[in-house]
Amino acid sequence: RRNKTTQEKIDDENDPDSKALRGELGARKKIEADRRSLPIYPYRDDLIKAVEDHQTIVIVGETGSGKTTQIPQYMWEAGFAKEEGVRIGCTQPRRVAAMSVATRVADEVGCKLGNEIGYSIRFEDCTSDKTKVKYMTDGMLLREFLGEPDLKSYSVMMVDEAHERTLHTDVLFGLVKDIARFRPEIKLLISSATLDAEKFSEYFDFAPIFRIPGRRYPVDILYTKQPEADYMDAVVVSVLQIHAQEPKGDILVFCTGQEEIEALEETLNTRVKQSQSTNDDEDGGRSKRLAELVVCPIYASLPTDLQQKIFEPAPEKGRKCVLATNIAETSLTIDGIKYVIDPGFCKQKSYNPRSGMESLVVTPTSQASAMQRAGRAGRTSAGKCYRLYTAWSFQNELDPNTVPEIQRTNLGNVVLMLKSLGINDLMHFDFMDPPPAETLLRALEQLYALGALNDRGELTKLGRRMAEFPLDPMLSKTLIASDKYKCVDEVATVCAMLSCGNTIFYRPKEKQLLADHAHKAFHVGDVGDHLALMNVFNSWQDCDYSTQWCFENFVQHRTMKQARDIRDQLVKMLERVEIDLSSDRNAVDNIKKCITSGFFYHCAKLQRNGSYRTVKNPQTVSIHPSSGLAKELPKWVVYFELVFTSKEYMRQCIEIQPKWLVEIAPHYYQSREIDIDGDAQKQKRTPA
Ligand code: ADP
Ligand code: MG
Repeated sequence: RRNKTTQEKIDDENDPDSKALRGELGARKKIEADRRSLPIYPYRDDLIKAVEDHQTIVIVGETGSGKTTQIPQYMWEAGFAKEEGVRIGCTQPRRVAAMSVATRVADEVGCKLGNEIGYSIRFEDCTSDKTKVKYMTDGMLLREFLGEPDLKSYSVMMVDEAHERTLHTDVLFGLVKDIARFRPEIKLLISSATLDAEKFSEYFDFAPIFRIPGRRYPVDILYTKQPEADYMDAVVVSVLQIHAQEPKGDILVFCTGQEEIEALEETLNTRVKQSQSTNDDEDGGRSKRLAELVVCPIYASLPTDLQQKIFEPAPEKGRKCVLATNIAETSLTIDGIKYVIDPGFCKQKSYNPRSGMESLVVTPTSQASAMQRAGRAGRTSAGKCYRLYTAWSFQNELDPNTVPEIQRTNLGNVVLMLKSLGINDLMHFDFMDPPPAETLLRALEQLYALGALNDRGELTKLGRRMAEFPLDPMLSKTLIASDKYKCVDEVATVCAMLSCGNTIFYRPKEKQLLADHAHKAFHVGDVGDHLALMNVFNSWQDCDYSTQWCFENFVQHRTMKQARDIRDQLVKMLERVEIDLSSDRNAVDNIKKCITSGFFYHCAKLQRNGSYRTVKNPQTVSIHPSSGLAKELPKWVVYFELVFTSKEYMRQCIEIQPKWLVEIAPHYYQSREIDIDGDAQKQKRTPA
């Protein structure tokens, strides 16, 4: 007896596989239909032809036209990755976008993620030998240059979301442009969502521009009459109003970050629930019972399994409300959005080369950004955009464009990477928009102070080792210094925990006191935040990585697993640079000295009024309220990062002894600056 063919199984209603196969076929057909309905589809063949005819092309098309998901597939289908070991690459400025898009494309292709379609982001490589289309962050591609300076395993490289002008994308421009000169067969695709493509074209030796006409429905733009005192309040009011009064369609709110998103999520959920539990009779039917509102957050550190939730359709009788960071501006397209709420802010890095201080600051968006945000409302039908600021403010207060990141960030990392690639003359590197000379000098100076460069600006052995780690130079230095102080194991934990962002502890509203109490327990003795983080990890490890332990201690299990993964990878990288995993859990001072070796730049001294002053290039800063040292106020601290909210806050601090500065960074600090003899001075101030 021969086996039935798939078609026969589908046709035979009594066959046990019939239903499943039919469902699968239906899903495949829908995906095929979706692909064909994208604005880019009619241009598929022209695009392939253009790529065959030219080495570099600039592709412009509105967000959602299908650039990111389709173009790499078209290139694959056209045979650009036929040869073994050759693949098509596509860079994304954001890790969430790289993962999400790869997931989608794997679905479209019908393969398991990591097989033909894969992605690679820092600390996570989801690709295999089979991978033909690889999505990756721009930062990862930059790292790949270190191992493969000619990118010979790629036949096509698409630098996507070029309009975002992230630091890494800008550096990639220079590198891929250079490669194209000696690899005539490689194809470069520079793709952008904004229409001012001439600048990209010009930079890439007048590469042809391929435009994908977009479909767009009108978007009504509504401004507030007066400036909003509290835009978070205004967001809640607007969402609830739309939900109660406007026709069907989903809502997208642009937030500045995770904290804002979490706060909004909670308020919105509570308010909707309240409305549903009020008895109509009690208030004479004044407040309306609201329909279901599915609130979906999306931000960089959101766990992967929750990220896909934003793409699930809204409930039949309710509405979906997506709370997103800038990621939804152009990187991710969510179908069905009809209402956009734009408070007009985003979180941006800002850097002062004079003081060497970098911080994250909530800043007004640019007009270009505001336009992109509004556009998200008109993709599938006419929509509305609620700008929570005045029309006057849009015209007069917003900058026309966002300043490229390269001009407002610390370049330490990138300079170290370029030096490792043998690019010594950075002043003459082919930047599309060069960074300020002062910023470059500052980066060189910092790398010199860390010992990564010698006085001729050449990479040292230490610098070469530092470049092996996908970490900020200050963290790499910290990690490498731990070899000398024989506490590599502990410092690797600290570095892994610091690399997880600020999502380790959680604090549910109804259990804040309990949570605070649990968190405080990690600050035992003379510690500081870095060591508290280490204690968290060690306790979790000692409990066999238990989920229950995390639950009891108000620690995010997911983040901890991520920390463990990162730690494992750091340990492997340490092996590669031949550093043994020495360990001494009690060597508190030594661990602190390692941190000081990397972060001596970030040193501040207590002032009489309880604030701090940074030692070099004096600036007033404070300890972040979430720090375990916020009440202790030690005299000398070294901090991990600065965040600016109501003022400049140092996040993650340890107490240090000032004499360590001179001991550890003698080329940077002199004894007289440090005032080691601080106590003598205090006595002088006390009246006799
Ligand atoms: P572009 O890069 O031009 O902005 P994309 O290729 O990202 O456009 O998006 C094309 C389509 O794919 C959009 O309709 C979007 O909603 C859909 N899409 C992208 N990622 C996902 C995903 N993870 N799940 C479901 N749909 C997705
Ligand atoms: Mg895209």
